[in-house]
Order: sequence, then structure tokens, then C-alpha cells
Amino acid sequence: MSNGGKRNCILCGEPIPDWLISFEGVKPGVYVCENCISTAFEVLKENAEKDIHESSPSSAIIQENPADIPTPSELKAHLDRYIIGQDKAKKVLSVSVYNHYKRIFKKDAVDPQVEIDKSNILLLGPSGSGKTLLARTLAKKLNVPFAIADATTVTEAGYVGDDVENILLRLIQNADGDIEKAQKGIIFIDEIDKIARKSENRSITRDVSGEGVQQALLKIIEGTVSDVPPGGGRKHPYQEMIKIDTTNILFICGGAFVGLDKLIAERTSRKTIGFGEENHHHSPSLSELYSNIHPDDLVKFGLIPELIGRLPVIVGLDELDKEALIRIITEPDNSILKQFSEMLKLDNADLDFHADAIEAVAETALNRKTGARGIRSIFEKLMNDVMYELPDIPGKKTVIVTKECITENARPEITVSPLP
Ligand code: ADP
Repeated sequence: MSNGGKRNCILCGEPIPDWLISFEGVKPGVYVCENCISTAFEVLKENAEKDIHESSPSSAIIQENPADIPTPSELKAHLDRYIIGQDKAKKVLSVSVYNHYKRIFKKDAVDPQVEIDKSNILLLGPSGSGKTLLARTLAKKLNVPFAIADATTVTEAGYVGDDVENILLRLIQNADGDIEKAQKGIIFIDEIDKIARKSENRSITRDVSGEGVQQALLKIIEGTVSDVPPGGGRKHPYQEMIKIDTTNILFICGGAFVGLDKLIAERTSRKTIGFGEENHHHSPSLSELYSNIHPDDLVKFGLIPELIGRLPVIVGLDELDKEALIRIITEPDNSILKQFSEMLKLDNADLDFHADAIEAVAETALNRKTGARGIRSIFEKLMNDVMYELPDIPGKKTVIVTKECITENARPEITVSPLP
């Protein structure tokens, strides 16, 4: 083909000389010159790298560059984006998690004579106050594998139920089978208060199974090499096992510990009798009360001293009040209101959620006593009919949610803008 203007680059418009490589695109007779191909390639490559970076800002920090462990204030700032309130817990957790990974990754810089112990964490707080969310958000920021286990499903060896090793299996699975990675992960054990032994302060009959489960958990929490059956379930004698060392796994245990606040209040008020009147007027928040916790309070509650000894960082979360629930609905980066707004946008609709409707959702959640946990189900129920109808309605729509939609089950109104 001659070069007389017939073979021009579709992008830069320049004639393509015979010696320059060109690419005949999907349409016959349409050419792109070598220069434009390589420029486009560079742009695509740059964008792809940017995408990867932006979609996981903390990508592989912990695994590849130990020097880049986020500082406690960076961790706290990250938690602030997703979790409302619970300031004390966020601070304590940020420091503990920072120390934990510093201990693992900077161990060469530490005097070999001084072995720094692992500081596992105990979170005390009502249901739905953000315990699991805190642990999960930290693990995500650090890009370490994370697993959640429910202490009530674990049984002591020999009983029917989940072996503790299944918790480790879940972590290994979440690390895509990479044992090295799993060994530096975080495990959240929920409902640890439900396996308290009952003998100390509640009934005369000794609840050995609670104590047995605590013993089983203690083993993996304090650090051991565990044999995990790859397929889960119970162990069999001749089965091949996955070996995992739990020494550097960070365990965060959580529980509502109903009644523990009274135990602490009783003890502290007994101690302060005769020390002035002010104690009678100030009713401390849960997190304030828990900051006065003594290991004996937990023993009284029914945890075994050995387990308490392995959970040296103890922090309390506050019950979420109405204001906090309103903030949870509206403020976090991925707040439920933002999530539903985005979802409606996909069906060409705006969400006009009145302020008093938000308040009513918060009040309903508060009355259910499930903390922030009930908010999503209130939204789902409220919006279900709307989301069923919206895709079939042409044009630009607005969904209006008033207080009555919550308090009287009124249907949210859908208005359609007239076409221009
Ligand atoms: P817990 O483990 O204390 O029972 P979760 O962390 O599972 O409670 O909370 C349940 C849900 O409620 C979370 O997924 C989150 O959507 C919301 N939530 C709870 N507490 C908070 C909080 N402090 N800030 C933002 N959202 C919260």
C-alpha cells in the first residue's frame, strides 16, 4: 500500500510510513500507528496499576514490607472512617495491633534476651456495638487473613461439636491455604462470655463443659503447633494434618458479659464507701466502668484465670445511644444510607430520606436492643417493595421516605420527573 495519505493512523491522523509497524483494527482499512499503540499501552498500564493501588490501599503492607506497619494513629484514623464512637476501644486496639505486628516483624531489632509476649485482646461490650466490626476493619486495613468463630459452637475434645482446630482451618481457608500468611492472621472469637463456667456466682452445679472449652481455646490462644484436619470435622487417627503455629496469630475475644458491669460497680463502690458524695451522683458509662476492671471480676464471672492471663488487653465498648445510631446510619464511608442511595441510583432513582425518618429508624433499633445490628433489616424491609417496582418505572425517579414509613409502615412514595 502506498503512503500517499491512504494509510493514516485513526488516532493521531498522521500518515503511517511503510517502515512503521501498524495495526489493522477490528474494522478493515482502519489503522493505528506504532507510536499510538505504545502510548495507549502505557496509559492502560498506568491505569491498571492505579486501580490495583486504589482498590486495596494497604495491599500487602504487612506481608512484604514490615517497616510499613501503620502507626496507631493511622490505624485509629482508618477505624474512624467506618466505626462510630467507641473511641477508647479504637485507641487501645490500634496500639495493641500495632505492637503485635511490630513484635513479629521487627523482632530482629529487639534484644534477643527479651522475649516480648503476645498481647491478645478482650473486648467487652453489648451486642451490636461494633466488636466484630472493629476486628474485621483492622484485619482488612492490615491485609492479614481474618476468621470469626463463635465460642458457643466449640466443644472440648471428645464431645460432639466443633473442634477448636476448625477455627484455625477457617483462617487457613481465608488465607487461600497459605499457612505462612495464616500464621500472622487475626481470629475473632465471639460470645466468649457464653462459655463462662457457672459455678462461681450463679448456680451450685459446676458447668464443666464451659471450663473444658475455655481450656481448649486457651491452648491455641497462648500459642501452640496445632494439627488441623484439612477437610474440617473431627480428627481421625490416620488422617494427614495441616500443621499451624498459633504463636503469632492475634486473638481478639469478644462478649457482652451481661452482669459484669454490676460486679465491677459493686466492687468499686464497696471500695469507695466513705470517700465523699460524688460517687453517688456520677453514673459511669460502660467503657468507664470496664476501665476499672480487675481480673478477679472476670474470674467471678466464670472465666478461668489462665485464659484471662492470656488476654491482657481488656477494653470496654459503650452501648450505642440514639445519637450514635443516627450517626451510624448516615456517617461512615459505607453507611447504610449511602449504600441504599447508590443502589437506587443504579435504577435511576434518588433517595430522599427525611431526617425524622432516620431518627425513627434509630429509635426502632434502640427499642429492639440489638445495637446497630437491627438497622439493616429495618432498611431492607422498608425498601423491599420499592426496589421491586423501581426497575419497571421509566424515567428519573425519587423515592421519598418519611417518618410515617417507619412508625406506621406507610409505603415510601415514588415520584417520577416529567421527561424534558
Ligand atoms: P458486635 O460484634 O459488637 O455484636 P457487630 O460489630 O457485629 O457487633 O455490629 C453489627 C453491625 O452493626 C456492624 O456490621 C455494623 O454495620 C453496625 N455497627 C455496630 N457498631 C457500630 C459502630 N460503632 N459504628 C458503625 N457501625 C456499627
